[in-house]
Amino acid sequence: MKSVIFVFLFLLMGTLCKSQVKVKIHSKEGYEGYEAFADRAADSLETVLNSTKFRDAIRDGVFTHRNGKANLEIFEIIMQAHEVDGPGGKDSVVDLRLRTITRAKDGKKWSKRRCSRKTVGRDGGSSGVTATCPQKLALWKKNDEVGRLAGHYMHEYMHVLGFHHKKGNKYESAVYKIGYIVRDIISGEL
Ligand SMILES: [Zn+2]
Repeated sequence: MKSVIFVFLFLLMGTLCKSQVKVKIHSKEGYEGYEAFADRAADSLETVLNSTKFRDAIRDGVFTHRNGKANLEIFEIIMQAHEVDGPGGKDSVVDLRLRTITRAKDGKKWSKRRCSRKTVGRDGGSSGVTATCPQKLALWKKNDEVGRLAGHYMHEYMHVLGFHHKKGNKYESAVYKIGYIVRDIISGEL
């Protein structure tokens, strides 16, 4: 009887732990003054990813640029957290590497003006490093909009997982919409 209970508990633990994912920031380059804000965004992102609200939003979402995957397959890819780009890390851990955009690193076209407008950041090509406009970091911190930063991390992380929005209406893509889902759950709009 005892062994049956143990097996049952073991299986139960396996089920409970299965869909849990962690968020880990490995590096923050140029984040002076924003480290704590980035940590808060990572914590909020972790809470969202493990919520039923997030799973339901993905299940019920309508996405383009989905790499041929069904909605819940996209959800599973996120939960597996197996990075395609960059150095990655452990599976089931969203491995984030962060830096700010600088003219020296990103070139002239990433001028102050571009970052002051709609642009939030870039995924850093295939480096797996999420680059963020310092102007946006400052603005969001000032307005206490941690959801916007977490949503941006999610957007860039979708790229690291191999999703893109190259052609067509990018705002309908899985990358954009899942970033917005994270933002809206944290801000309470979803
Ligand atoms: Zn993008």
